[in-house]
Amino acid sequence: MGLNGPFCIYKMLSRKTILIILLFANIVSWSFIYDLTSTSNLEVCFFDVGQGDSILIKAGDKQILIDGGPNNSVVSKLSKKMPLFDKQIDLVVLTHPHHDHLNGLLNVFEKFKVSNFLFTGEIFESKNFNILQDLILKEGSKKYIAKLGLRIIISKDQYIDVLYPFESLNNQLLTDAKANDSSVILKLYSFNDTMLFTGDATFKTESDLVEKGIDIRSDVLKVAHHGSKYATTDFFLHSVLPKLAAISVGENNTYNQPAIEMLDRLEKDNIKVVRTDKNGDICLTQKKTKQFSLSSQME
Ligand SMILES: [Zn+2]
Repeated sequence: MGLNGPFCIYKMLSRKTILIILLFANIVSWSFIYDLTSTSNLEVCFFDVGQGDSILIKAGDKQILIDGGPNNSVVSKLSKKMPLFDKQIDLVVLTHPHHDHLNGLLNVFEKFKVSNFLFTGEIFESKNFNILQDLILKEGSKKYIAKLGLRIIISKDQYIDVLYPFESLNNQLLTDAKANDSSVILKLYSFNDTMLFTGDATFKTESDLVEKGIDIRSDVLKVAHHGSKYATTDFFLHSVLPKLAAISVGENNTYNQPAIEMLDRLEKDNIKVVRTDKNGDICLTQKKTKQFSLSSQME
């Protein structure tokens, strides 16, 4: 790639410096730290995978995938966004094990190498959840348990914090009815911009975050649970104060999502809305230090 010696040394120093800073800050850190010393452009894509969630965070040549949607369409979406010979995804996050977030990940593990895997650690009784666990084992991906305080470092000015669950739920049995409540909540910081990813969080999750005083304020909000009326409540929106809300939802779905009541709440607060059922794949790009902006297919 034309990198010379001094550049490599610089990268190593930078990595060491970050580690020292983290040590002093007493932050629970991941063992992988991205090198993005040469490029800091960031792109976040909400893939149109029908009724489900699949979101790609692309920073330089690194990729983080949050959920895989309900089917294999995520694979072709990823292939379009990733460099031709790059078959490695640095981190896959499973917010919760419902099929509309998990199923596509089975295809992802078959087609790509996955270095790291983040989830709540809860045990879920489903065939595909078990297949996924086998694929992770076979792949040798490093498993991480999501809990408040965990930080994924992308670069000096870009990172993702895990905001929820508050404690490790590792090895606890998860019932179908409770699966949405313990969705992994992530907040992305990129220079001066922030983005909140809420999985299929519910009113309960939202109240927990607000009541604990977690800093959830974000420029962009990935609306929880495909626009369900049981989430994205007024008090939550008034804490997040997003300028833009992105909804991952299937066209003409049987759940009648996004709910009219929820859309009204967004409208009342003058929040711009983008939806995968109407807009297709939605990509937000951020040039270094500039604000997020919608990619060409949207405007
Ligand atoms: Zn869902």
